[in-house]
Amino acid sequence: MSPVHPTLIPRRICEFARDAAGEWIVHLECGHRRHVRHRPPLSNYPWLADPAERAARIGAEIECERCARGEPPDEPPRS
Ligand SMILES: [Zn+2]
Repeated sequence: MSPVHPTLIPRRICEFARDAAGEWIVHLECGHRRHVRHRPPLSNYPWLADPAERAARIGAEIECERCARGEPPDEPPRS
């Protein structure tokens, strides 16, 4: 039985990329890729548009709900 609100697992950000639609994606150390969108109040990333702010967050942790769901990684996990 899976919980309604799985525990979110913090993972470090390895790099930022954009998809074909121009949406930001973070590549995480666990091998998952995850969209990040600035859509307050649910999703608050006002710094996404600023290259310096993005660079400052490489190595910072962000919750990976895909790990919490036990999904296989998109690419080999990085250490
Ligand atoms: Zn993950």
